Amino acid sequence: MTKKQKKRLKRILLAAAILGILLLLTEVSAISEHIPFPENAIANRILMTLLFLIPYLIVGYDVVLGAVKKIGKGQIFDEEFLMLIATAGAFAIGEYPEATAVMLFYQVGELFQSIAVGRSRKSISDLMDICPDSAIVLRAAEGEGSDTGALAEIEVDPSEVEIGETVLVKPGEKVPIDGIILEGNTSLNTSALTGESVPVDRKVGDKCFSGSINLTQAIKIRTTSAYEDSTVAKILELVENSTDKKARSENFITRFSRFYTPAVVLCAILITLICAFFTNLGLSRSLYRGLIFLVVSCPCALVVSVPLSFFGGIGAASRQGILVKGSNYLEALATVDTIVLDKTGTLTEGRFAVEAVHPNEIDPDELIDIAALAESRSNHPVAESIVKAHGTHIDSSRLGEVEEIAGKGIRAIIDGNTYYVGNGALMTEIGADSHECHLPGTIVHVARVKDLNIKLCNSVTDSNGKEIPVFDPKSTEYLGHIVINDVIKEGSKNALADLRRAGVKNVVMLTGDNEKVAKKVSTDVGVDKFFAGLLPAQKVEKLEDLLAKRTGNVAFVGDGINDAPVLTRADIGIAMGALGSDAAIEAADVVLMNDDLRKIPVAVKIARKTLRIVKENITFSLAVKIGIMVLGALGIADMKLAVFGDVGVLILAILNALRVHRTRA
Ligand code: ADP
Ligand code: MG
Repeated sequence: MTKKQKKRLKRILLAAAILGILLLLTEVSAISEHIPFPENAIANRILMTLLFLIPYLIVGYDVVLGAVKKIGKGQIFDEEFLMLIATAGAFAIGEYPEATAVMLFYQVGELFQSIAVGRSRKSISDLMDICPDSAIVLRAAEGEGSDTGALAEIEVDPSEVEIGETVLVKPGEKVPIDGIILEGNTSLNTSALTGESVPVDRKVGDKCFSGSINLTQAIKIRTTSAYEDSTVAKILELVENSTDKKARSENFITRFSRFYTPAVVLCAILITLICAFFTNLGLSRSLYRGLIFLVVSCPCALVVSVPLSFFGGIGAASRQGILVKGSNYLEALATVDTIVLDKTGTLTEGRFAVEAVHPNEIDPDELIDIAALAESRSNHPVAESIVKAHGTHIDSSRLGEVEEIAGKGIRAIIDGNTYYVGNGALMTEIGADSHECHLPGTIVHVARVKDLNIKLCNSVTDSNGKEIPVFDPKSTEYLGHIVINDVIKEGSKNALADLRRAGVKNVVMLTGDNEKVAKKVSTDVGVDKFFAGLLPAQKVEKLEDLLAKRTGNVAFVGDGINDAPVLTRADIGIAMGALGSDAAIEAADVVLMNDDLRKIPVAVKIARKTLRIVKENITFSLAVKIGIMVLGALGIADMKLAVFGDVGVLILAILNALRVHRTRA
């Protein structure tokens, strides 16, 4: 409990105690007929009012003040206003203990609500805990001795560290900024980022992400981005903005309360008038009925529990390393029936091993060398694997202009020659005399443009509207190909099975890779349908087809490399392994912090549960409300039942909303 909550609890207890004593006193004095002013009804009333105002104000002064302030600003018709008129009315008709009890119960409800919201916030703020307070940067010491070249450890705010500076991270501290390890081997705890509790080992040359905790050894890292572009800052921004995106059910509540409160006040007045004029209840009892109606009608259970459930759902997901960018996406996720997946890096590891090198009249090492040089600036999984296979130092001074041709490969100038490295489609395009390989796998072809001076036959426009030169076959020289193979991710098959169990009907795979590989992967993991050889723009077209035919929502899962457009276009874009991939974090609606596909069925389950709870709460609280309202209007329910019903519904709704936290993986 926070200090504020403790204070509120104290006020509630104190007021309850005083109320108890007062009740006892009035009972006793009534029995022994020692009423202070038995003859003087008005004096008696004033005394009682003053006495009961003590506990009333102790527990409710903030509500009264809040309501008065809002009336001053012209914002009437909210919860506090309802409370004020209902209790003031109760005082006016001599229901002192009830008036006090209404306020007391209301505050109990408020306390519950704030504890519940606090709990949800906490799971999100656990994530906020990834925020580093400071960074120790190594800089040339200023002033005397600066010419010795010694570096001093200076503690600065993370935002003051520039790209390329060296930062020291001691064991037990958070990595403040994304970077590459220069010195030291260590284990990092990335659980705050990925939900994965097993530490990961990192050595010199490895990337590390801000927000992970250094466990074993001091490391020095060279920063690769500024603080505001680092993983931590990105995630924080995402989480902070997530509550802005309201789900439809939340918007419904806002609209609902706008007309609801005035309608209720009107009804209460009508009830009072009808009772007063058309029955023999008398004014004070008629007023009492109107007031009961007011008290029970307060829609706090609805207003509180719906956003709270979504908040809880988002929090529960984030603890599993699933970041949902808004309640609307959680809502959409609950009705997903088609999942479309990218292959490379999503269903497969995206870490290709070189199976074979088939050079065409050149040295195999030279072929790898050229491919690795050309790929050295790309972050495509194919590229990273080839660079890794090359192993040794890459002399980037040999490298000139490099262009990545999305979904196809790379064009690079090496030692002044133009090379193309990529798939069969790319080779056909440049007119290289490539041949397919008998080995199964992803084939990376390499071709050199012999003579740039040979005129282009013509040029074609690719699907992105970009011109691609088509060379005379005589002008290109096919240098051979590298066969690489990827492995299917450990959890892919299970994840798809879980998704089906969670009610997803269609599972479709889209890939830019060749048919053979696509077919093998799709049968191995069990997707229903696949489309191969797609360029990024064609992936969007395929998705459009699926969207046109959909019965439920369509989610696309990708790693953000070459599929950001599809991520954006789908009803829900889910980015995998988003650590470090800015494009994915931005384009996606749901971000999986690690590479584990099995988190998707978990996310769907959390979403379904959240929505079920929201619906339960709406139906339940409306039903009880309407029931008591009717009873109140008929004069069957009294003030106590009304208050009890109201607070009871609120507490049950909150407890129900909290259940979403307990969704297991
Ligand atoms: P996927 O849909 O499987 O994720 P992409 O659309 O990223 O694949 O790429 C499709 C194909 O294009 C790859 O299978 C590969 O053959 C080729 N390709 C893409 N980028 C590169 C690259 N940088 N180097 C070599 N080949 C590439
Ligand atoms: Mg991909």
